[in-house]
Amino acid sequence: MSITTSNLGFPRIGKRRELKFALERFWSGQSHIVTLQDIAAGLRQENWALQQKLGLDHIPSNDFSLYDHVLDTSSMVGAVPQSYEWKGGPVSPETYFAMARGSQGGHDHGACTHHGVAAQEMTKWFDTNYHFMVPELTKGQDFCLGSNKPVEEYREARQQGFDTRPVILGPVTFLKLAKSKDETLDLLSLLPGLLPVYTEILRRLSANGAEWVQIDEPALVLDLDENTQTAFKITYEFFARALPRLKLLLTPYFGALDDNLDLALGLPVAGLHLDLCRAPEQLQTVVTQAPAGLVLSLGVIDGRNIWRADLEAILQRIEPVITQRGTDHLILAPSCSLLHTPVDLELETDIDPDFKSWLAFATQKLEELSILGKAINTGRDSVRSELAAASAAVETRRTSTKIHDAAVKQRLKAVTAQLSQRQSPYPARREKQKSLGLPDFPTTTIGSFPQTEGVRKARAEHGKGALTANAYAALLRKETETSIRWQEEIGIDVLVHGEFERNDMVQYFGEQLSGFAFTKHGWVQSYGSRYVRPPIIFGDVSRPKAMTVEWSAYAQSLTNKHMKGMLTGPVTMMQWSFVRDDLSRDQVCRQIGLALRDEVSDLEKAGIRIIQIDEPAIREGLPIRKAYWAAYLDWAIECFRLSASGVQDETQIHTHMCYSEFNDIIDSIAAMDADVISIETSRSKMELLDAFVTYHYPNEIGPGVYDIHSPRIPPVDEMVGLLRKARKNLDPDQIWVNPDCGLKTRKWEEVKPALVNMVEAAKLLRLEQ
Ligand code: GLN
Ligand code: ZN
Repeated sequence: MSITTSNLGFPRIGKRRELKFALERFWSGQSHIVTLQDIAAGLRQENWALQQKLGLDHIPSNDFSLYDHVLDTSSMVGAVPQSYEWKGGPVSPETYFAMARGSQGGHDHGACTHHGVAAQEMTKWFDTNYHFMVPELTKGQDFCLGSNKPVEEYREARQQGFDTRPVILGPVTFLKLAKSKDETLDLLSLLPGLLPVYTEILRRLSANGAEWVQIDEPALVLDLDENTQTAFKITYEFFARALPRLKLLLTPYFGALDDNLDLALGLPVAGLHLDLCRAPEQLQTVVTQAPAGLVLSLGVIDGRNIWRADLEAILQRIEPVITQRGTDHLILAPSCSLLHTPVDLELETDIDPDFKSWLAFATQKLEELSILGKAINTGRDSVRSELAAASAAVETRRTSTKIHDAAVKQRLKAVTAQLSQRQSPYPARREKQKSLGLPDFPTTTIGSFPQTEGVRKARAEHGKGALTANAYAALLRKETETSIRWQEEIGIDVLVHGEFERNDMVQYFGEQLSGFAFTKHGWVQSYGSRYVRPPIIFGDVSRPKAMTVEWSAYAQSLTNKHMKGMLTGPVTMMQWSFVRDDLSRDQVCRQIGLALRDEVSDLEKAGIRIIQIDEPAIREGLPIRKAYWAAYLDWAIECFRLSASGVQDETQIHTHMCYSEFNDIIDSIAAMDADVISIETSRSKMELLDAFVTYHYPNEIGPGVYDIHSPRIPPVDEMVGLLRKARKNLDPDQIWVNPDCGLKTRKWEEVKPALVNMVEAAKLLRLEQ
């Protein structure tokens, strides 16, 4: 009798971001698809070998993706929208990447589209900072096998001697995540067409030797209506009938099954995974209610955070379960795929050793699983020193003086409701802000300009000590000045300095705040080839000195136009960091809000009259279940207001949010009371603006008119069309003209014509007044 150890998914990006570099070389035409595929195969092999070496029993395959696993699923089931001109057969890399990134037409690796086509919509994967490509389905959607990837990767592993457990995204979650232009279409009605394609993939996996398939259904932790519950039943009964011998591990994560527990336990599957990090309390109920033969996968190692686990505590929690159910029907697992954690802590050679001992990245988490497995299968004695080391680390972290700051705790206690109120309500502020002298349809950008090769190289060299601080700063000043001159030349109204000095919108601040730590190699995929290195909030947060004032003041000194100060908001800062687990999130967030409040005041003192506090992550921070939304929104909005409310009425506060739907949180967005909000709307053709229109949103708003996720240059008439749409429903005085988001990932050759077009579009609109 022994317990099985498993993994649900390993990061795809490579220890040293090999996948990113390979993709970008391919996209820029510097390498052939075969080279990209070779590098991808090398990464898969490395990951399988590592997991095998660590002694895991169930190693995943098909957890790899060149871009996104939801996009992989769309190709697998042939859900390729007509605009990509797919003619059936295997979905080619050109089509796949056109769906991911759009194509300009003509020059994208021989894609034979004549006029460019936009990328698919992208949105956040549940409450993570991973973004997936939203499947787009139509009435009467035909599904057919467009890719055999799960089978190919299973066989590839097998040929290399790895017996894997393939992972696929389940059909119900797939449909729940999908969208249709036709609002009357009930997406679940497409299930009957979808199931045969899934069944074919499962059949092939089984025929090739797979004993288990992990079928991810995170939708099982959502609030589900009856139709969706029925869809789950239909789906898994269909699979059980078609493939009675194949063992499916139904894998929900990111929360508790709660009221979906009976549904989950009633499905004819061989195994059920439980996220016991997000929802530890469900263990006992499930163990009591689960049918005897059901294999339970216990997600005990946190796949969403980087803290080293308290292995003793975990053992104590699972021992009673073993007594009750025996080890044979138990699997030990991370709570979810390790996609959301960095690859390997061992690469961090220059962090504080104490701090390092508190951490575990993907590789270390698998080691933890393997230690737990040994402790159970061969006795605690066989891993005595490993267990002792884990306990010691947990203890030093709990008591470390590096974590607690009395002044911060004191300030937090003294927070009053007054602190999160601006001096006057919006209408009065608006009057006073007329002194800014802005035209109708003012144009601006969201903050960052292209981080060119030159800038990134200089930063890297500065980091290595090969470029002096002075030389680096001089280069950044030059970039900033060039960008300002160019913005003046093309006639942008509210300028930005370009954020050339920033590596990342959260990391840049994290590096300057106390209580944050950062890594050198702790990259996590955000979308496609875009990775971020989340800071780690390990202690009380404070601001030792001003963070952005020097750059903003320098930029303002170069121009008579308004220079927008640029900060990342408290909720986003927290949401995109790994957060300490010894203090509640609202408290951590208030600490950051207070630190930012000081920065906002300092910017104002330095003569900056427009300050943008980006909060793109407010929506993604929403708890998965609606019952907890109100409490979260209360403190999240309060934290934003804490950061923004220390200024005079004349100072204009902007905020910016991207990839968000606003319908169900519009009251809270309005309660942020930013003088101006910019949002991402171009891909949805202004659909995301509807919430503001219906609400009669009173403050100013810049609906994005330029999809910055795509290299495509939007023509003037397209942007004019979008703005006219906005003007039809909003007061023209309310409208700002801006891109969807910052431009750091784009090239200047793309940005320049696009922004020239944008300014032109604003001018045309002014003429139509
Ligand atoms: N100011 C940031 C930028 O322009 C905003 C980025 C974001 O919202 N994701 O890069
Ligand atoms: Zn944005």
